[in-house]
Amino acid sequence: MSAKIEIERRRDLEPIQLSHIGSEGCNFPMETTSTQIKREMPKAKALGASVPDRIGATPLVRLDSVARHLPEYHGLESIKILAKAEWANPGGSVKDRAAAGMVRDAIDRGVLKPGKTVLDASSGNTGIALAMLGSAVGFPVHLAMPANVSPERKRILRAYGAVIDWTDPDKGSDGAILRARELAGNDPERFCYIDQYSNDANWLAHYRTTGPEILEQTEGRVTHFVAGLGTTGTFMGVSRKLKEFSSSIKAINFQPDSAFHGLEGLKHLGTSLVPVIYNPHLADREMQVETEAAYDMARRLARDEGLLVGISAAAAVWASLQIAREEAEAGRSAVIVTVLPDSADKYLSERFWEDE
Ligand code: PMP
Repeated sequence: MSAKIEIERRRDLEPIQLSHIGSEGCNFPMETTSTQIKREMPKAKALGASVPDRIGATPLVRLDSVARHLPEYHGLESIKILAKAEWANPGGSVKDRAAAGMVRDAIDRGVLKPGKTVLDASSGNTGIALAMLGSAVGFPVHLAMPANVSPERKRILRAYGAVIDWTDPDKGSDGAILRARELAGNDPERFCYIDQYSNDANWLAHYRTTGPEILEQTEGRVTHFVAGLGTTGTFMGVSRKLKEFSSSIKAINFQPDSAFHGLEGLKHLGTSLVPVIYNPHLADREMQVETEAAYDMARRLARDEGLLVGISAAAAVWASLQIAREEAEAGRSAVIVTVLPDSADKYLSERFWEDE
């Protein structure tokens, strides 16, 4: 099941191979046990790895200090909060997994072939992941993106050589989606429209890699999974895998508490185009996080935990701590796992870092 992908290199037309993220560990059967997972996880490669091969297998970080600093810490000792450090992916975010999965799927289905340009709408990280893969594998990338993304993101995308259509910031990520649809509709011969919001290969990437990694790294002891909703791929894919492993694992998602928010990468579903891949019935619980709470947590994680993470990652820790408090109050022990989608690198110019 090596799932090697071949694509022609644009410049020299030499066939090159993109061996897909976690391909050796994909498609675990429903009855997978943690011992089986260990056996089936990809092995470290002795002689280095290509850029696409380095996607996935991210560390699971234990957050020790952040709970200890809470006034109500007493009682939280039996609760573990663990987080996937997704900035360890080569493009710097969780979206490398989805982008690699969707690109591989498009190649397998024959819709991405030499001469085609990959197109998608993104508020940042998927765009960066596609641009990185385009440069590593050899296909052009065209993105529709709101013009107010951070200057750091703009520079990264320019460095990878992607072409960007900047869309009206007031229309948010939905404005970018509408532009990508328009471009794809006008020139279907030129574009391979990835459409991450409707693409099953998005959540399947997490079902095949992030979910099994969490089971393996917790030795199957995870009790709660917490993730923010953007395209919803992370939440859908990981939750499906974990619930197949044990139906008692709780799947908890969160979104920004209002339409205008600072949680980059996340969507307020009540006022946005709801991603086609989202199924609300999977969630045991839905939470909302305020932007200010996430900013405050981002500063605390940097100062107390040595973790310089992005805003949605800080929101994920805030939501996980809420669950930790409730479990502690109920006298239960818990292993709460969340995802830290990216590091603070792309948000360092934001003013909230200077607040006390
Ligand atoms: N956080 C950040 C920083 C992101 O870029 C994204 C992707 N939009 C998410 C969270 C949410 O991930 P997903 O698209 O898998 O729901």
